[in-house]
Amino acid sequence: MRIVELSGGVGGARLAVGLDRIPDVELTVVVNIGDDEVIQGFHVSPDLDTVIYTLAGIQGPEGWGRAGDTFVTNTELARFGIDNTFQLGDLDLALNMTRTQRLGAGEPLSKIMSDIARSFGVESHVLPASDDRIETRLLNDQGEWLGFQEYFVIRQHRDVIKEVVYDGDDRATPAPGVMEAIERADQVVIGPSNPPLSIWPVLAIPGVRDAVESHPAVTAISPLIGGKALKGPAASVMASLGLPPGIEGVLEAYEGVVDRLIVDHADQAHAGREGEVEVTAAETMIKEPERAEALARLLLGI
Ligand code: GDP
Ligand code: CA
Repeated sequence: MRIVELSGGVGGARLAVGLDRIPDVELTVVVNIGDDEVIQGFHVSPDLDTVIYTLAGIQGPEGWGRAGDTFVTNTELARFGIDNTFQLGDLDLALNMTRTQRLGAGEPLSKIMSDIARSFGVESHVLPASDDRIETRLLNDQGEWLGFQEYFVIRQHRDVIKEVVYDGDDRATPAPGVMEAIERADQVVIGPSNPPLSIWPVLAIPGVRDAVESHPAVTAISPLIGGKALKGPAASVMASLGLPPGIEGVLEAYEGVVDRLIVDHADQAHAGREGEVEVTAAETMIKEPERAEALARLLLGI
């Protein structure tokens, strides 16, 4: 079975683990690059790295970075008066150095990440949504435009967000393999990721939304459980962008895109038909790989 998953970081990575554990599944994860930025001179790709580390089973305790990493270099930066709020671990730095060096030599991100994934023993295909740069930028209620990591890490997603843009999206093309994977997929799955901050930037790349919309079997997993995000600003950003609260907001965020939405048991009051979309309730807390696999099996009907 060929499956494509669209993913942000932690939530999408967890679902990818579940899909990856099923022997008959050939998985391609198409990952958001709107969070990519240059930090301390390095090109960081937080969502791609989270997906690869999680598939390799070596992710950090919060879901990002690497398990058992140390922060010696990051701490030392303070000596030179450098803002080191964005924490780059020592092991994580090696990956970031490799990526930055190879990008500087002109190699495409997709090729670099596929080599990096292989070096960790990851067999599923992990593709950046594009080899071009796309930068998520956010307008707060004070009229200031913020870069993604400035908003998310430095200001700890406290700003009220009124508008989101994905700079460069109109000039970007899907990375090699993305369109082919979607067109050949038996199912397209949208992971439990933040819709405006992780999935919309993928859909914004010309051609991708059309390909997903015209695919006959597209299912999203709700990132909201009982109206709340497990972590992070999904609920607050969706609300301040004008989406209705809870599952209604998730349905509106993916209007015209999905055929099916899987919500948590906590939201089973929504199960049934909502317009064109079939809503099903299931266990969607999938931190443990066994639970992620159970959800993946339910998703694929096996
Ligand atoms: P990132 O990790 O910051 O890139 O963010 P994501 O795009 O992965 O979105 C985080 C969202 O994932 C939050 O809204 C969480 O509620 C959701 N999430 C994380 N883990 C899980 C999970 O196990 N189940 C479900 N349903 N949602 C999850
Ligand atoms: Ca992210």
